[in-house]
Amino acid sequence: MSQVARNISIIGSGPSGLYTAYHLVKKANTIKVPINIKIWEKNPVPFGLSRYGVAPDHPEVKNCEDTFTTMFREYEELSAGFCKSLQFIGNTIVGQPSMSSATNPFENHVALKSLMQTEDVVVLSYGCNGDRRLNIPHEEECSSVFTSRQFVNWYNGQFDVALSDKFMKFDWSKVRKVGIIGNGNVALDVARLLISNQVKELWGVSDISTVALEQLNKAPIESVKIIGRRDFSHSKFTNKEYRELWELEKYGIFGNIISTEFDTLVKDIKAPSNDRVMMRRLEMSKEYLLPFDQRSKKNYKKVRPPIERAESKKHWEFDYLLSPVGINMHPGTKDLKSVTFAQNVMQKDGSLVQSDSTVTTDFDLLITSLGYKGEPLEEFGELGIQFDRSHVKNIDGRVLSNSDVPIPGLYTSGWINNGGQGVIANTMQGAFQVADRILEDMAAKPIHKKSTSNAELNTQLPNQTTWADWEEINKKELQKGKAQGKNRSKYITVDSVMNVLKTN
Ligand SMILES: Cc1cc2nc3c(=O)[nH]c(=O)nc-3n(C[C@H](O)[C@H](O)[C@H](O)COP(=O)(O)OP(=O)(O)OC[C@H]3O[C@@H](n4cnc5c(N)ncnc54)[C@H](O)[C@@H]3O)c2cc1C
Repeated sequence: MSQVARNISIIGSGPSGLYTAYHLVKKANTIKVPINIKIWEKNPVPFGLSRYGVAPDHPEVKNCEDTFTTMFREYEELSAGFCKSLQFIGNTIVGQPSMSSATNPFENHVALKSLMQTEDVVVLSYGCNGDRRLNIPHEEECSSVFTSRQFVNWYNGQFDVALSDKFMKFDWSKVRKVGIIGNGNVALDVARLLISNQVKELWGVSDISTVALEQLNKAPIESVKIIGRRDFSHSKFTNKEYRELWELEKYGIFGNIISTEFDTLVKDIKAPSNDRVMMRRLEMSKEYLLPFDQRSKKNYKKVRPPIERAESKKHWEFDYLLSPVGINMHPGTKDLKSVTFAQNVMQKDGSLVQSDSTVTTDFDLLITSLGYKGEPLEEFGELGIQFDRSHVKNIDGRVLSNSDVPIPGLYTSGWINNGGQGVIANTMQGAFQVADRILEDMAAKPIHKKSTSNAELNTQLPNQTTWADWEEINKKELQKGKAQGKNRSKYITVDSVMNVLKTN
């Protein structure tokens, strides 16, 4: 007897949603169950943070997009005929209208409840769409404080903020000193962009939003300070991102580290340590802090800086053991004047104590880079879906109800599963594991009643975009980019995307 195909809906077309789909496509034949997959995406175009997060000068990181494109083109062969359909349904938000409704008049809405009633499997892969905050006075009111999520979305041309007054009307020409709170990889991406904002070679050829770059180019940025609560050894960045910051010296941009603990660590650099990542980090720091001719290792003598460190007008630096406690604005304005920090002391047991002493540093712009925050969809309460601080509560991707039991057919993958952690490789591995759980559960339940229910799900929505539409947009963006000497020129308004599609 031929099997009834199971209907699977995935919410979000970022790396987690698409890697979940990819694994289901590739493995459906192992359980011999035919499947139909629908991927719902609030933006008219796919790829989530691969398109709107990853730094524009890291095109190689976006290679996952090629895998996803192949999947859409070849899902029948890849699944040995078990994947019967694979649909991208763009411009369609699952849940309540979002803030994007203001910038996307074409957005469709589909209730999560209706997906859960009609689909055999629903996967929540909608990422982390909120900001973690410092929660100190004037943080939201001050016009020169941006969260890294808003700022990164803006320079990557994300529809919700690409033309937002917050950035477009901001007086970039006054920005000389920038503070960044947090020292993870996102903070380093932002620091790299800001301190090298006028290096055409880096950004002019990238897919950064052209209008954002025009604004950024106006800023005569001289210093970017990256500030951490804890000490050097607790820095959150990876060595790859760190190296890229140091390597800006080939454009005459130099780095510095303010940390007593760092000096002690460097003195001990020859002491054997099992922490190879830290040893590498120290070696890199020590070598790059030396004048070019005094460096001992070939690795750090590849490109001679065009000027000496002392002549340079552009620096980035790390500062440690500081917690922001106050944002001070110029009197009578909403412009940032300075930030007051409490000084922290690390205890022997690794805990942190905030002391009574404070320091105040002048900045023209402050970026808070504290991580992306997961948020529940509005219907979670009504549907009894458990949300824990920044992620959907789950066991191995199986979503838990408020009474801590898995909700049949409901899964979660990616950043909304784990609260916003990990690079694309981790996200991929996690998504594969969740897809394996889905396959196991499908194999264990030969016929799911929803596949045979009469309830209909409308997948022909008025302004939805399809995968074929995305392929058209992609082609046009690459053509526009080529004409401008860039690797891609993105459409940054939903109107412009819809116009292109209308005229085809
Ligand atoms: C600034 C930044 C730089 C990064 N750089 C790198 C890097 O260099 N290398 C690397 O490997 N990783 C990098 N990462 C990490 C990588 O981007 C993540 O691991 C990955 O994107 C997480 O995937 P996700 O699918 O869980 O979430 P997302 O990528 O956020 O995808 C979620 C998708 O769901 C959609 N969505 C949201 N709500 C709804 C809804 N209600 N209905 C329908 N659709 C919805 C969103 O529009 C989005 O397309 C970076 C992350 C950031 C933030």
